[in-house]
Amino acid sequence: MADILISGGSVAGPALAFWLRKYGFNPTVVERAPALRDGGYKIDIRGAALEVVERMGLRDEVERCGTDMRIARFVDVNGKQVGTMSAQLFGGREGDDVEIMRGDLARILYDATKNDVEYVFDDSITALEETADGVRVTFENSPPRMFDLVVGADGLHSNVRALAFGEESPFIHDLGHYISIFTVPNHLGLDRTEMMHPAPGKSMGMYSTRQSADAKAMFLFSSAPLAYDRRDVAQQKKLLAEVFAGQGWEVPRLLDAMADAPDFYLDSISQVRMDGWSSGRVVLVGDAAYGPSPASGQGTSLALVGAYVLAGSLAAAGGDHRAGFAAYESDLRHFVEENQKLAANNLKGMVLKTAGQIRFQMFMLRLMPHLPGKNRMIKQITEPIRKAATAITLKDY
Ligand SMILES: Cc1cc2nc3c(=O)[nH]c(=O)nc-3n(C[C@H](O)[C@H](O)[C@H](O)COP(=O)(O)OP(=O)(O)OC[C@H]3O[C@@H](n4cnc5c(N)ncnc54)[C@H](O)[C@@H]3O)c2cc1C
Repeated sequence: MADILISGGSVAGPALAFWLRKYGFNPTVVERAPALRDGGYKIDIRGAALEVVERMGLRDEVERCGTDMRIARFVDVNGKQVGTMSAQLFGGREGDDVEIMRGDLARILYDATKNDVEYVFDDSITALEETADGVRVTFENSPPRMFDLVVGADGLHSNVRALAFGEESPFIHDLGHYISIFTVPNHLGLDRTEMMHPAPGKSMGMYSTRQSADAKAMFLFSSAPLAYDRRDVAQQKKLLAEVFAGQGWEVPRLLDAMADAPDFYLDSISQVRMDGWSSGRVVLVGDAAYGPSPASGQGTSLALVGAYVLAGSLAAAGGDHRAGFAAYESDLRHFVEENQKLAANNLKGMVLKTAGQIRFQMFMLRLMPHLPGKNRMIKQITEPIRKAATAITLKDY
């Protein structure tokens, strides 16, 4: 069966490897990080993606690792509580939806595949050359190898996409905001609690999940595109400190803790939009192809469902990659578009423009539990997410 190289060992890559192996293909995963990247932020798995996890036989384990968050508390500059929300509603979850740390999910997927999939860590593809019978791949560290197909599961700034489709700017759509997340000491002693401090054009937060002794700090802000070096973490930390200078609540303390953060992350909130996800023998999956942005809350679910559909389509096409890639695109595109649409609306509630809007949002939060129509209002928040998350009927391949 075909040898398939997958670039990226986070969510989409190992999930794809799982299904390819099940259908008798021979996948290899190359991951740039020196070892499995655990850590990260909370992510949601809902709708069709939960069904994929169930079909993988991993649902119990995923649920066991759930964050078990309890409440979101909104505070003013002095830390005084001005509103609360259930953690479920804050995350737009309902019913069986699961929230899990990205690193825990990556570990579960890796453990489910490591015994029969080859993982090559600390390496990256440098060139792809299509020949009559495959793709000749060269690597930074390993010797060149031939593969039948190559898959880019290497995230928003995909290396495979750059090599096969060219530079990223035509595909990346900036939604006008930035997000930063990093680990900090849990100096507030938070227990499965989310703290949020909204300010005009900015939102600052801190949370701690069931499994973690530490906490995560989260910073969101609206901004025109910023020029910075994506590999220069010191420069990015300086940028964040400048944007949030003078803010109240715990912000000065969180920014102080940023200096020691082992996992600092900053990026624009952007979507990947492409007319086609394959080129010859190269195809993209997950954020690399259709990243919906963290604001959609559906990136992981798209990656899991995309991996399932891609592997199944290749298997159903009997290894004819052209037919497999075409089926993958036609079966998945509507689902992708529905989930990408969530981001813009979610962002409006995540970062408010004026102090008046914030006061009104907090007033509504305090009022909501006492309103007769509160269930209808809650449905208005969760229904579009549920609809998008279930906007595909999974085939049996
Ligand atoms: C702050 C934040 C919050 C988020 N919140 C949510 C949420 O609430 N819900 C949700 O569903 N999603 C959320 N997401 C999005 C979610 O994490 C992604 O959509 C999801 O992880 C997609 O998985 P992926 O495997 O496609 O890409 P990634 O998880 O980005 O993985 C890409 C992998 O490729 C590797 N890689 C990169 N370059 C190379 C290279 N040159 N060679 C080899 N390997 C390489 C990387 O090291 C990484 O392991 C959030 C994302 C962020 C950043």
